[in-house]
Amino acid sequence: MIGFNRILGHENIVHSLKNSIIGERVNHAYIFSGEKGIGKHTLAKAFAKTLNCRNGGTEPCGQCISCKTFDTGNNPDIITITHSKRDITVDVIREQIGENIIYRPHSNKYKIFIMPDADKMNVSAQNAFLKTLEEPPEFAIFMLLCENYNKLLATILSRCVTFKLRPVDHNLIEKYLIDNNSLDREKAQMYARYSQGSIGRAVELSNSQDFNEIRDYTLNLARELEKADLIKMYKLAEGLKEYKDEIDTVLEILLLLYRDTLVYIKTGSRRYIIQQDKIDDIINMAQTSNTAQLEKRCDAINDTRMKLLNNGDFQLMTETLFFKIKEK
Ligand SMILES: [Zn+2]
Repeated sequence: MIGFNRILGHENIVHSLKNSIIGERVNHAYIFSGEKGIGKHTLAKAFAKTLNCRNGGTEPCGQCISCKTFDTGNNPDIITITHSKRDITVDVIREQIGENIIYRPHSNKYKIFIMPDADKMNVSAQNAFLKTLEEPPEFAIFMLLCENYNKLLATILSRCVTFKLRPVDHNLIEKYLIDNNSLDREKAQMYARYSQGSIGRAVELSNSQDFNEIRDYTLNLARELEKADLIKMYKLAEGLKEYKDEIDTVLEILLLLYRDTLVYIKTGSRRYIIQQDKIDDIINMAQTSNTAQLEKRCDAINDTRMKLLNNGDFQLMTETLFFKIKEK
């Protein structure tokens, strides 16, 4: 059951939201900004559920009609905006907010609109939304969730209370995975570290049967790349096509391998290595590479990820990346 007490990390934000409830200083609009899977939606839902709980207080009671309908996904006054994969259009704003907000809440104190991917609103959608935001009815509360709040108009930002969600401590994620997904400690630790502070990502990885296979493939690819000549390099790039749909995971694993190696070279300690079960790979890589080279590789991977996200040509991008990885 969702409530503030189930939120992992983000203590300062929870504290601040609870204080706004106690002090009756609840704003009309909030932005929760942070990476995918970091807990934005869970936080917004906990806040919304608490705000509409009949028993008041700083935790939802779980017993009242509002809490109960929320838990079954039928609370008529807590509305999640849905949209197409690509963007949020002005029609979405009109149909799901504009036509809805003219009616008072069915049975609750507030009518709360939660908008995932708010940074996908195109400019006309943002302008339409702004009109509502400029003169919201007393009962309306908006919670915008986004990865990059800088894509929102300054006029929207100035009307919202913005919270930036930081990566969650990996020890907390590790404990969560052990308690909720019944993983053993070593596995939980690995997924927690891989998730880079995103609980959603950690759960996704731990449920992915393919992940270990992709990881083995990627670590082998890295080993092969170290000693590959030009012809072999092209062959490896060719082979990568098979993992086109998983390329982001492949690049993430590669990135972590180089980061681990960097950390190991710089600190000389095994303690800070994320992939504790692959220490041999990391020590081997440390012997054949140097920090400047590894830093360049990390930059090149990030650059490739960005370009692939923006529909860059797969073959060209991966070949270029391999060239950069091979640069001395
Ligand atoms: Zn309640």
